[in-house]
Amino acid sequence: MKLVIKNLTKTYKNGVKAIDNLSIEIGTGMFGLLGPNGAGKSSLMRTIATLQSPDSGSITFGDINVLEDNMSLRKILGYLPQSFGVYPKMSAEDLLDYFATLKGVSNKEERKTIVREVLEITNLYDVRRKHVAGYSGGMKQRFGIAQLLLNNPKLIIVDEPTAGLDPAERHKFLNVLREVGSNCTIIFSTHIVEDVKELCNEMAVLNGGKILKHTTPQKATKEL
Ligand code: ADP
Ligand code: ADP
Repeated sequence: MKLVIKNLTKTYKNGVKAIDNLSIEIGTGMFGLLGPNGAGKSSLMRTIATLQSPDSGSITFGDINVLEDNMSLRKILGYLPQSFGVYPKMSAEDLLDYFATLKGVSNKEERKTIVREVLEITNLYDVRRKHVAGYSGGMKQRFGIAQLLLNNPKLIIVDEPTAGLDPAERHKFLNVLREVGSNCTIIFSTHIVEDVKELCNEMAVLNGGKILKHTTPQKATKEL
């Protein structure tokens, strides 16, 4: 499904215009949002995820009017914020089971199947009984993906997920995203050009709240 953003502007109370009359169309597959710190990547992602309202503009995903019908969007959205917060001392398996309950999967056997599935996709099945609080940075990020996969999202937004990961962890994480990304729309922000080259079929460069370039990693590589 296609995400269509038109003339989006977001100004914070302190007067910072984080998104400046931005328009873009993003199709199925892995989309990389590249830009330096302060470019507006998080602001754009939080706005698409309906966690904050823009001043003006429109966002549609397929036939969902995102800004007017955020409930429909959230049902098919998986969002991984830049910092996922504090983890309770619970095993990954129990925590995912709990999240699945919150997402409305009331049947225990059904939850067990889904939880196993997302643990396997994210390569966490072998460490499912360990506390998430004790996971490494890369494992925590993969756990973040596991939890957002519980409701089989069609639109996945991940905000700088590779920041702070060592090369091995980063690689494992990108592999997980690659596996997940084949049949949905994934928007993935990063300030690392290599992330985009390895993973994405399309990319945009964001700065000052504006899209400077919408291209493919292949073309961008030739120009950079
Ligand atoms: P409020 O709605 O309470 O006035 P803001 O909308 O200004 O708060 O900020 C919302 C959140 O974003 C707060 O948690 C704040 O700490 C954080 N924040 C504020 N300024 C910045 C900034 N320049 N960059 C990143 N985050 C910020
Ligand atoms: P990026 O994710 O690319 O680093 P952000 O969207 O976090 O960019 O920030 C874009 C601009 O908006 C920056 O100038 C930042 O300081 C400002 N900003 C981000 N969040 C807030 C907020 N809640 N309140 C005020 N200013 C913010």
